[in-house]
Amino acid sequence: MPELPEVETFVRALRPALLGRTIQGVRNDWPAQLAKPDPDEFERRIQLRTVESLERRGKYLVFKLDENETLIIHLKMSGHLSIENVSKSVDKHVHTSFLLNGKEELRFRDIRKFGRVYLVNNPDEVLGDLGPEPLSDEFSDQWLIENLLGRKRILKPLLLDQNFIAGIGNIYADEALFQAKLKPDRRSNSLSNSEIQGLRQGIQKVLSLGIKEEGASIDTIYRKPDGSMGFMQDSFAVYGRTDMGCLRCSGKIKKIILGGRGTHFCDQCQL
Ligand SMILES: [Zn+2]
Repeated sequence: MPELPEVETFVRALRPALLGRTIQGVRNDWPAQLAKPDPDEFERRIQLRTVESLERRGKYLVFKLDENETLIIHLKMSGHLSIENVSKSVDKHVHTSFLLNGKEELRFRDIRKFGRVYLVNNPDEVLGDLGPEPLSDEFSDQWLIENLLGRKRILKPLLLDQNFIAGIGNIYADEALFQAKLKPDRRSNSLSNSEIQGLRQGIQKVLSLGIKEEGASIDTIYRKPDGSMGFMQDSFAVYGRTDMGCLRCSGKIKKIILGGRGTHFCDQCQL
C-alpha cells in the first residue's frame, strides 16, 4: 500500500494544482528520505525548478521539471502527499516539504518512513527495471503468454514483482487472481492460454475499478490528498474477507501466507 490505483489517485488529484508551479526550495528533517542525490545537492538542484508534468509509473509519482530534472516519489507503506498553505501547522510525520510559489507547499507525510524521494536527470536510474504498465497496450495477452510460460514462478509473488509488471501490490494481486479464478500458488508455466487471458482481464478489471473508486482506504493507511477515503475496499471480493462467504460459489475465503505475504482466495472456485 499504496498500489497503482492509489498512486494514480494522488497523481490525478495533485496534477492540476502543481502544473506550472515553481518549487522554491525543500525542507527536510530526515535526510534518509532523500535517496538521491545527497541532501545538499538535492536542495541546490531543485531550487526554482518548474513542474512541467506529473505522471505515474508503477507505484512511483514522476514529476518532470524544467532544466532536465525529474523528481520521483515512492510512497511505500504509508506515504501521503498533500498541498497545504504554509501557515497550516506541520504534522510531525511530515519529513519533506517542497515550498511552492503562492505560499503553499507539497508535504510528504510518512508515518512508517519507508517512502523515498529522488531527483535525477535520467529517470531510468530509478524506473529503468520496471515491467510494463498493466493498463497499457504493451500488457497484452501475447506478452503475458510469453512471459508467464517462460517462467516457472508462483503466480502471486510473480504478480508482486515490480520488474515483471509495475504497480500491483498485495491487495490487487489477490483480487485479480480471484477474478481470474486462479489459485495464488499456481506455477506461471502451468496456465492455459485462456487462463492467461482471464488473468490479464482480471488484473485490468480490478486496477480500473480501483482507480474509479479512488483507491482502497483500510485502517488509516491510505487517504486521498484531501484526507478523504477511497471506496475500493467496499468492492473487495477476497482481500480482508477471511472466513467470509465467497461471492461466487458456496466456498469460504481462506487466508494463507505465500511468499511472506497474507494471501486471500477461495479454494473452491479458484483452481
Ligand atoms: Zn468461490
